[in-house]
Amino acid sequence: MDIGSFVEPARPAPRRSRQATVRWGSRVVTIGGDAPVRVQSMTNTDTVDAIGTAIQVKELAQAGSELVRITVNTPGAAAAVPYLREQLDRMGVDVPLVGDFHYNGHRLLADYPACAEALSKYRINPGNVGKGDKHDRQFGQMVEIAARLNKVVRIGVNWGSLDQELLAAMMDENAQLAEPQPPQQIMYRAIIASALQSARRAEALGLAPEQIILSCKMSGVQDLISVYRALARSCDYPLHLGLTEAGMGTKGTVASTTALAILLQEGIGDTIRVSLTPQPGEARTQEVVVAREILQSLGLRTFNPSVTACPGCGRTTSTTFQELAKQIDDYLRAQMPIWTARYPGVEGLKVAVMGCIVNGPGESKHADIGISLPGTGEAPAAPVFIDGEKALTLRGETIASDFQVLVERYIEQRFGAAREPLTVGA
Ligand code: SF4
Repeated sequence: MDIGSFVEPARPAPRRSRQATVRWGSRVVTIGGDAPVRVQSMTNTDTVDAIGTAIQVKELAQAGSELVRITVNTPGAAAAVPYLREQLDRMGVDVPLVGDFHYNGHRLLADYPACAEALSKYRINPGNVGKGDKHDRQFGQMVEIAARLNKVVRIGVNWGSLDQELLAAMMDENAQLAEPQPPQQIMYRAIIASALQSARRAEALGLAPEQIILSCKMSGVQDLISVYRALARSCDYPLHLGLTEAGMGTKGTVASTTALAILLQEGIGDTIRVSLTPQPGEARTQEVVVAREILQSLGLRTFNPSVTACPGCGRTTSTTFQELAKQIDDYLRAQMPIWTARYPGVEGLKVAVMGCIVNGPGESKHADIGISLPGTGEAPAAPVFIDGEKALTLRGETIASDFQVLVERYIEQRFGAAREPLTVGA
């Protein structure tokens, strides 16, 4: 067997988009170019309820959403936006707001100038800006306001609301060909054409290329991958990625992760949103948690210390390691808002919690700090490895709490201001 002399390490391909800049006050969020892939989310509150929406925006921002989109669908919602922005500013939440417009965005932006000002970015769906001659006029009105106020625009095509006139024209043209293409191809090309034609028109109306972001959302994984590959080849605008109507629970999480991971690995995508339908009682912030996990798993961003835990098997019949892994994971996440400022670099920490001697010592040695718990029939001792070396062995009923103390001490010594040399005490 020839395995060659070098195994190419996998890493996300470099991105090549131009850069857009979204601002609110002193908060600047760069998108595309050399900026990290950004996490976006969307509220599901009625925007008319400015207080309720402000609370949810704050939760999403605290969970790590770098841009939050809100629905602006009625005069009441448009009137509430400046008040919502004011509430956020009072709470010290400077996350930029993105206004989501359909059908009447041209009127709302013109009639509610304070709303147009309070939003940092507008999402315009070219399939929902009016039909016939109204389409270009109403699209133009929104773009002109964005250009005048120096706002970024996302031209967001969605296959569920694709410009039907454009699709019909492309279908007719295709039917005239000696060898027509399959309808799926025309659908793909119509979605991309809608985005690109709208972007060109926006530029012609005065929007700078750096103020334009594109998206072409689909609900099928392979459809999304097909369209974004072609879109990325066709332009250098930053691209917002998301699988629309991904669904709920495991299905939604897996479908979004599959689609986004493949595209991000190919260097496609500058902002992402995971469109999860919350399960009853589930926090809206779950979509932010999943989006961050996708980026961290691919090595594109580092947000939280990682806890490697084995899945468990017949070699360990106790739940000790599951409980310890969860306890450590919960503890690290809960501390991050404080630790981010106190311990620079702590987000890169790797902790391992393993169930038995088979993979425990090996995996623990790869982590910064790891523990190998005793499996069934093994001596009741848990070796702890620090920076690849066995440092000590924990025993007794307090293994879990003792290990947490060791993790805290490790973080303090390695990432604290004093940066003491690492010492270990049982
Ligand atoms: S480390 Fe041990 S308990 Fe965990 S999955 Fe591997 S063999 Fe099973």
